[in-house]
Amino acid sequence: MIKKTSIAFLVILTAFTGTTIREAAFSETAFRGAVLTESGLTEKVHYPLPLISSIIRFFLSPQIAHAKETITCPKTKNQSVKVVEVAKNIYVRKGLNEIFTKENLAAIATISFVIGEKSVAVIDTGGSYCDGARLLRVIRKITDKPISHVINTHTHPDHIFGNAAFEKEGAVFVGHKNLKRAMVDRGKIYLENLTRIMGKDQLVGTKVIPPSLLISKTKTIDLGNKKLELRAFGTAHTDHDLTVFDPELKIIWTGDLLFHEHTPVVDGSLLGWLKEMKELSKIPAKFVIPGHGGPLLKWPKALKPQQDYLEKLTADLRKIIEEGGTMLEAQKRAAVSERKKWKLFEEFNARNASTSFAELEWE
Ligand SMILES: [Zn+2]
Repeated sequence: MIKKTSIAFLVILTAFTGTTIREAAFSETAFRGAVLTESGLTEKVHYPLPLISSIIRFFLSPQIAHAKETITCPKTKNQSVKVVEVAKNIYVRKGLNEIFTKENLAAIATISFVIGEKSVAVIDTGGSYCDGARLLRVIRKITDKPISHVINTHTHPDHIFGNAAFEKEGAVFVGHKNLKRAMVDRGKIYLENLTRIMGKDQLVGTKVIPPSLLISKTKTIDLGNKKLELRAFGTAHTDHDLTVFDPELKIIWTGDLLFHEHTPVVDGSLLGWLKEMKELSKIPAKFVIPGHGGPLLKWPKALKPQQDYLEKLTADLRKIIEEGGTMLEAQKRAAVSERKKWKLFEEFNARNASTSFAELEWE
């Protein structure tokens, strides 16, 4: 009864003071840098305005309040999600430095959201419906503003497979002009592969949602006194990398144009990536939120380790090719001096060597 009374008081208080939503939500979760622990992962697919839904849930029977379709996410050991407010109204969930597993629900990319005066933009949605739904639940503990934009930085599954959790939010899905094609080409196979690796239950609700707003060069969106500049890059990490820049706070989201901690993964062009990094470094940011690692690093300083890795990989491969070495030798030898600097090195370096060997062989 005491609990019900205090909830009722909170709901009424929330109705009168906008800021209380956030403070109330985090009195139990202590936000800045703290772990927001989730108990159970039964997700309601549709999230109406939290305030209204709290009132409905409080006064009506659970049957009425929960009549909507539900997707039940599996309970795994890794049930916590850490979201940090890195700057005013900018929140980041740093990804785990892991490969896809049953336990991590593919929560391996660094994903974010930005709150403006009118609406919210989500920048990458995580690696599964359940990962995205978890982010949405955090968003709804902080704000009831509509989500106007879901921005995907590129097509890799750890960045886009949370999209379905935002499908009913009425947001426009945004990406590089080549993203739609990449999702159509690869989406199905990604989903099959992840289902095989992680299991069907872990991928419940997950589907490919391609962008409807395509960026070919640059575009500025406005969330209400919060402008974000989107920019499409040439072939680098992939052939459809998109960055987001907040000109007011001088923060750039690079997607996987920048890896931190996690070994960089070449899926577009090694030389293209080095070239585009030069362009990227010209963006007058002070801080960066990378596609892996982070959550917030100094710019352009944070580019250096990745640049060293990509340059070392290029130099080693050129040498091996010049000496008539094979792809197998390249896998064993290229960039191995970088091993200690990166996580998941064994998982990705040999693959980078093969992909880039094929690229450099004919230069
Ligand atoms: Zn990626």
